[in-house]
Amino acid sequence: MRSRFSPSRGLEVGRSVRPARLRLLAAASLWLLVSTAAWSEPAPEAGRRDANCVRSQFRVVLDIGHTAEAPGAKSARGVSEYEFNAQLGRRLEKALLDAGFDKTVLLITAGPARRGLYSRVKRANKAPAHLLVSIHHDSVPEQFKQDWEYGGVQHRFSDQFKGHSIFVSNDNPDRKGSLLFGRLLGKQLKQRGLQYTPHYTEAFMGSRRRQLLDAEAGVYRFDQLIVLRATRMPAVLFEAGSIINRDEELKAGSGERQRLISDAAVEAIAAFCDARSPARRRSASVASAGRDTPIETVAPSANPQ
Ligand SMILES: [Zn+2]
Repeated sequence: MRSRFSPSRGLEVGRSVRPARLRLLAAASLWLLVSTAAWSEPAPEAGRRDANCVRSQFRVVLDIGHTAEAPGAKSARGVSEYEFNAQLGRRLEKALLDAGFDKTVLLITAGPARRGLYSRVKRANKAPAHLLVSIHHDSVPEQFKQDWEYGGVQHRFSDQFKGHSIFVSNDNPDRKGSLLFGRLLGKQLKQRGLQYTPHYTEAFMGSRRRQLLDAEAGVYRFDQLIVLRATRMPAVLFEAGSIINRDEELKAGSGERQRLISDAAVEAIAAFCDARSPARRRSASVASAGRDTPIETVAPSANPQ
C-alpha cells in the first residue's frame, strides 16, 4: 500500500511521544530517506538532474517478458517474442544508462513461464524500484492468423492489426502512478509518429477485450497481469508492436524503430521521475484536490498471459 508523508505533521516529535512511537517515527524517517532518495539534493557528481529528479538515484526495472525456455508469441517469420523483448530491453537499458539513469536494472530470467514470471516479480520488489516497465511484443488470437511460407518453412501471420499498446492494472498498489507513466509513454510514442492499436476495445477480442483508459496515449486496463498487480512499484506492460504482422515484425527488429521507442521511453521516464518528486506531488495535490482522474471499475475478464 502506498504511504504518504506529511511534511507538516509526519515527523513532529513532542514531549508526550513514547519510546515505542519514537521507534516507529525513526523507522518512518528511514523509510522516507530511502524512498525519496531519487529526489534529494544531489552531490555535483551524482549525475544529470531535471527540475526535481535526480536521474542517478531513480531506479527503473526493465522486465524482459517471457524466458528463453517459454518464449511467448512467435513472429510471422518464426522468431520468438522473447528475442524481440530482450533486444529492445537491452537497447533501452543502454539508452537509460547513457541518459544518466545509472541504477537501471534489466531483468532476465530463465525457466518455465510461471516460475520465470514470479521470479522476475520477486526480484523487482527486492530491487527496490521506482518504476517497472515490462517489455513485450504482441500477437493476435488464432482465428485471425493465416498460413504462409517464408524461407521454405510454413508460418502463421496476420496483417490485420498493427501498433503498440500499454497496459496498467487497477490492482497495482500505485495505480495512479502506473496510469501516469502509461500516459507519458503513450504521448511520447505518439509525438514520434507511432500509433497504438485500437483493436483491444473490439467485441471480437472476446476475453482479451480491454477498457481503453486513455484514448490519446493508448493506455488500456488489464488488472489480472501478475507483473502489474504483484509488483509494489508503479508498473506498466508495454507491447512494443505486433510481430505477427509481417511488416511490423521487420520494423520491430530494426535499429531505427528500437531507437525511436528507446528515445520515447527515456523522455517518459525522465518526466515521470520529475512529476513524482515530493515537491511536484505536493503542489499537484493542492492544485487538483478532488479532481484526480478515476480509473473506472469494470468487470474483470480472464486473460492468461
Ligand atoms: Zn508477451
